[in-house]
Amino acid sequence: MSNVHYTLSLASPNAHLFAVELTFSSQVGQSYQLSLPAWLPGSYMIRDFAKNIISLHAESANGAAVDIEKLDKQNWRVIATDEKVTVRYQIYAFDQSVRTAYLDNQRGFFNGSSVFLSVDELAGKPCQLTLIPFAEFSQWRVATGLTRAKNTEKFAWGDYVADDYQHLIDCPVALGDFDCTEFEVEGVRHHLVFTSNHYGDTQRLANDVAKLCQHHVNLFGEIPFNEYWFITHLLENGFGGLEHKNSTILQASRFDLPNPQRPEELTDEYKTFLSLCSHEYFHAWNVCRIKPKEFTPYALGNEVYTEQLWAYEGITSYYDDFSLYRAGIISFDDYLKLLSKTATRVYRGKGETKQSVAESSFYTWTKFYKQGPDAANNIVSYYTKGSLIALWLDISLRTKTNNQYSLDTLMRELWIHFGRPGLGTQQHDFVNIVNILSNDNLGDILLSHIEQADKFELVEILNQVGVKVNKSKFAKLNSLDTKNTEAYIPYLGAMYAKQSLGVKITSVSEDSPAEKAGLTIGDILIAVDNMKASEASLTKLANHISANTPVSCLYFRDDQLISSEIAFEDSPLAAIELSVVDEQQIKQWQQF
Ligand code: ZN
Repeated sequence: MSNVHYTLSLASPNAHLFAVELTFSSQVGQSYQLSLPAWLPGSYMIRDFAKNIISLHAESANGAAVDIEKLDKQNWRVIATDEKVTVRYQIYAFDQSVRTAYLDNQRGFFNGSSVFLSVDELAGKPCQLTLIPFAEFSQWRVATGLTRAKNTEKFAWGDYVADDYQHLIDCPVALGDFDCTEFEVEGVRHHLVFTSNHYGDTQRLANDVAKLCQHHVNLFGEIPFNEYWFITHLLENGFGGLEHKNSTILQASRFDLPNPQRPEELTDEYKTFLSLCSHEYFHAWNVCRIKPKEFTPYALGNEVYTEQLWAYEGITSYYDDFSLYRAGIISFDDYLKLLSKTATRVYRGKGETKQSVAESSFYTWTKFYKQGPDAANNIVSYYTKGSLIALWLDISLRTKTNNQYSLDTLMRELWIHFGRPGLGTQQHDFVNIVNILSNDNLGDILLSHIEQADKFELVEILNQVGVKVNKSKFAKLNSLDTKNTEAYIPYLGAMYAKQSLGVKITSVSEDSPAEKAGLTIGDILIAVDNMKASEASLTKLANHISANTPVSCLYFRDDQLISSEIAFEDSPLAAIELSVVDEQQIKQWQQF
């Protein structure tokens, strides 16, 4: 028997309860600390998983109760009274997200960080997990990146092993009657598992995902795992993913998968899902293995601060879409459309001049993961702006070195010097490698882009590779669609939603006509210029009112009617459109 042994069973699917038994060898009189993480790698928010622990008890080898001393919300202490301690508890599992645990009569799912107490003194030792099937669900199977014990078949209930506690909790487990397919990349088996009903063409999906995997493997030069699991839960509406060393848990909408009735169709939703697969698989190298020094090892009891998420999420975000093009799934024009959307998201936000991506990384725990209504005005995303910095770095390295080096080279260097040996990076490591590759001070310029809260202009860098940048206007009051025109387009500077009476304000831009009129989130705007304001009429109405001319407006805040004035302005430049002007020049950006 392994020194630390977990047994998990489905205590009550309808009550959403897992039962866990943890047994470990102990020495009489020795104190052992039990703990559960407060957060899990890849999702930088304190989630206090321990709040879902129910009925925590411990006993010794002879069956006598062992006292559990409460230390704080997620730490306990036991003092062993003989050679073995057994701890029993239940976990309430009713969160559909990829980050915690879920159980009902249709499926089960858990991250180890939500269900397995660590024995801190033994956290570095190998551990064993036994999964007990539930008699009523005889058709349910198991999907996980955990290592199967010798006697355990693939997809089977039974024994699994992990090198240590961190390994155990890096391998989420899906349970259910699921559908799966597989493919190989350079002899390594990759599984695609779907844990709910769908109509998707999984063979087409497997072919496309295989191309993306091959792209990433070529980029890094080797595959650091023996098998890989894409585990997807499809919902009516959903989107998200979380990366692990040899698996990823994904969520998508049921109809995002390719339609077998329309084999030629490449929908935006399918592209987005492929980009998500690409993103999480890239993370198997970039953040799961090449990672910030602050994360080696992860300290999961409280916040761990790093300024480097711009690289781990930004570079990953750059490659997630770019690899769709490089793998031959989308055209270059389609890639430019995706890139223009990312650039527009950064460009339309007001936070770029208030927060650098280093700060955005550092404050992820509060400002990014707990975004307030002011987020669009006051913070910048280390994902989107980080991906633009990655784009700039890729093109800059290529042009400076006559295409000898690129961002691909940097990633390989990071893999060889940090990922493979398991060393963490510091900000200056990126700077140093880029300075060396560029044989110049490109790394120092990179550092200024990371540390300064500046508008990041793409015009010059994209012109260097034959891509033209146009800036265009928001086309409608309540839309992020854009129009390339010199003509007047009225601008409200607020997003809103349909109401039975009027429209409900859902966000307000800084210095906008809406803000100047006093409108704020939650207000119900009911009239403009003494005319009814509705979702259907507001844009038409605004189109007939002169620019910069105050007219009356009426809105409810709570149940109080407020009378004010609003003056629509000409739509400020707000969106980026990209087009190829030199076919020859773009080739040097596309090369491997
Ligand atoms: Zn990511």
